[in-house]
Amino acid sequence: MATVGHRTAEERLAWIERQYWIDKDVALTAAQEWLADLADIGVHGVLGRRLEVQIASILTRRGDPRQGAVEMQRMLDWAERHGELALQSRCHEVLGSIFELVGDRALSLEHAVATNSLLDDSEVPLMRAAARLTLADALGSAGSFDEARRRYNEALRLVIDDPETSIRYQILNNLAYTEYLAGNHDEAMTAVESLIALSQLNNRPIGMYARDTIARVYLVAGRLDEAAATLETALEAKPVDYHPDSIAAALVTLAETYRTQGRFDEAQDVIDRCLALSEAHGLARWTTEVTREQAETYAAREDFQAAFESYRSYHTQSIALSASENEAKGRILEAMFQTAESRQESERYREMAERDPLTDLHNRRFVDEHLTMLLMLHREGGSPVAIAMLDVDHFKRINDTLSHEVGDEVLRALGRILTDALAPVPGAVAARLGGEEFLLIVPALVEDQVIELSERVRMAVGSHDWSPISAGLHVTVSLGVALAPADGDTSTALLRAADVRMYLAKRDGRNRVVHADA
Ligand code: GH3
Ligand code: MG
Ligand code: MG
Repeated sequence: MATVGHRTAEERLAWIERQYWIDKDVALTAAQEWLADLADIGVHGVLGRRLEVQIASILTRRGDPRQGAVEMQRMLDWAERHGELALQSRCHEVLGSIFELVGDRALSLEHAVATNSLLDDSEVPLMRAAARLTLADALGSAGSFDEARRRYNEALRLVIDDPETSIRYQILNNLAYTEYLAGNHDEAMTAVESLIALSQLNNRPIGMYARDTIARVYLVAGRLDEAAATLETALEAKPVDYHPDSIAAALVTLAETYRTQGRFDEAQDVIDRCLALSEAHGLARWTTEVTREQAETYAAREDFQAAFESYRSYHTQSIALSASENEAKGRILEAMFQTAESRQESERYREMAERDPLTDLHNRRFVDEHLTMLLMLHREGGSPVAIAMLDVDHFKRINDTLSHEVGDEVLRALGRILTDALAPVPGAVAARLGGEEFLLIVPALVEDQVIELSERVRMAVGSHDWSPISAGLHVTVSLGVALAPADGDTSTALLRAADVRMYLAKRDGRNRVVHADA
């Protein structure tokens, strides 16, 4: 197939994302085939998810957006957890168009903004233009026409040298339609003329939605013959590949054009054709729109009784339409909410797996992940990382002379003391490594501060009032401090250095902190 010859997975992915703007069917097939190959060899990381977003993005524009919304939300959660910004951006883009589709302007705008803010400047211009386009559409729908125009123009500039993709048609079409809605007829005409010039230059047919836009702009400019001609040629060509929705839209505009020209019989024929088409395909929006046009046409013919009936029908239909749109919006929100809920649930289990049940501190497993991550960030230029290993002095005596239960109670109290001592230190965590051994992890502190913190912990334990647990009980701890990068920058090296110093503290008499300078 056509994707053979791409050197890297990145290139192949970029090719598919580009195909989206050239031929969506090709993009869809290529993404589905590759995804199936990945599944065969058991690979499903960020690459597989990028492909899934691509597929969902095409499918939601063709069918039921509900499933897409849930899938995208789930994908977004994953991308957020794994810090995959490009994937997050694309998820937001699809979510933005889904909400645009169901008419939720606020959510659509929110996602469109996120799409852009998550996109890197190193992204290819086409993807940046696509993100701008999404934002411009959302701004236009929300009535911010000036803001929308600025984004459309930014998007155009990004793809000005791109001869191959259809994104420029889409941008110009949406810009023209936005100016038309804003009542800026001159600006709308300028955009329409650019669109026509571009199509002639590239010898590329203009799609039905774009023709509808062009016709509407001609119509308000009073260029009625041109409005009619723009639609007639395309509609007469019996366009099998056009979406019925786009044909219905064009038919409504054509009927309005004929009516304005006084060609009432032709207007009526077009209305009948549009009504049949809309009903056959369940296009509630166009059934409603063409009913309004029917009323206008009756009124133009001075059949006021029929016009009144049509108006009434139009009114009823548009109420039902917005109710069903609201319902669709509600279903999407509900499905997304449920996804978010089940995610919180699994977060809780995850959290439980990373906690020590006795002290409620983090456990060894958490330490391994967390320390590894902090050190990775440190190696990439992040802040230093300090740890302190802590062991209870003569803990066996507590168990032996009092009881194992008292020992447990001491460990619980120790957990609280450590938590309180670290509370004012940003990012610091305490964990129980096992037995009566604990670890403090403190990012972004210099050596003096870590030593001081360890001393404070040691004194807090020693001066704690242990009498509620057992009269005459005295508990002390020994600590060994290690720092990255001074003692190494892997968790193995750091833990070993802290462990060695903790044993030095024991050897030197316990109840003390040992660090590199000691
Ligand atoms: P040192 O000052 O050298 O650390 O002396 P120590 O007595 O603390 O020495 P050691 O590390 O050998 O003893 C640790 C004891 O902690 C052994 C074990 O019975 C006890 N222990 C480990 N886990 C638990 C627990 O969950 N609860 C209680 N009560 N005791 C535990
Ligand atoms: Mg001990
Ligand atoms: Mg021990």
